[in-house]
Amino acid sequence: MDRLRLLRARAQLAGMRENVGRAVRRSFSNSVRADDGASWHWPFHAGAILALSRDERHSILDGNVKRVLSRTFGIDGDPSSKAVLAHLWDTVRGVHTDAGVAAYTQAIMDLGATLCTRTRPACTMCPMNEGCVAALQGRQAELPGRKPKRIRPSREATLLIAQTGSNGSSAVLVERRPAAGLWGGLWSLPQFESAREAIEWCVTEFGDAVELRSLPPIDHAFTHFDLRLKPIQVQCGAKAAVRDGAERLWYQLNAPPRVGLPQPILRLFERLRTTGMA
Ligand code: SF4
Repeated sequence: MDRLRLLRARAQLAGMRENVGRAVRRSFSNSVRADDGASWHWPFHAGAILALSRDERHSILDGNVKRVLSRTFGIDGDPSSKAVLAHLWDTVRGVHTDAGVAAYTQAIMDLGATLCTRTRPACTMCPMNEGCVAALQGRQAELPGRKPKRIRPSREATLLIAQTGSNGSSAVLVERRPAAGLWGGLWSLPQFESAREAIEWCVTEFGDAVELRSLPPIDHAFTHFDLRLKPIQVQCGAKAAVRDGAERLWYQLNAPPRVGLPQPILRLFERLRTTGMA
């Protein structure tokens, strides 16, 4: 009985191996057929393996080959972009013949890895130098093209330092920020679109407000954008300080309450304290 089970298990294992092998072979040949210029690695690897091991006519286009072709044929643009990549695939398919595929494949990969390097191409020793666009036009440094740099978005806001008191007993108004978003849940100075809007708000809220000065901007980099905060310091009337609440409080600069502040705001308060501007 045990022997029967063993035989059955062996037969199942053999069947599974055969199925897996068939699936891998099918996937491999599909990948080579799918060598259509898409930015996949698998078609490149499959093509390179077949070209080198069986001398079959398959194209390869790794980073080294892209660099050699971009320079030799003067192909501008970022090789990872769809259009340039398609151009490179067309070019690479056009340059090799049916004969000597393995030698060509090895040669173009070696050329890119040893002579046509990214920063120091050895053009005087290179067998391509007489017909190479980059070498003839002195454009080795600009080919292949680079990915265009993404311009980081930037925002600006006015930061209101509304203060009461003076001579070491100043308090500045801070508000709790919404739980979601920038500095979520922390306490910070109120922000406005402009200095004018900030002062008008002060007058409405506290009755009187006198602008004292503008302070140097604070630049802060968030993950997806840069923020420039332009602080203005405003002196509010004595009555303003009575309006503390759950979402708003007057922060005593010389006896700070235990609330969480963003680092740039903490540094600003420290500057106000140490320079005696509050
Ligand atoms: S001549 Fe220079 S730039 Fe052109 S392929 Fe050779 S090493 Fe590269």
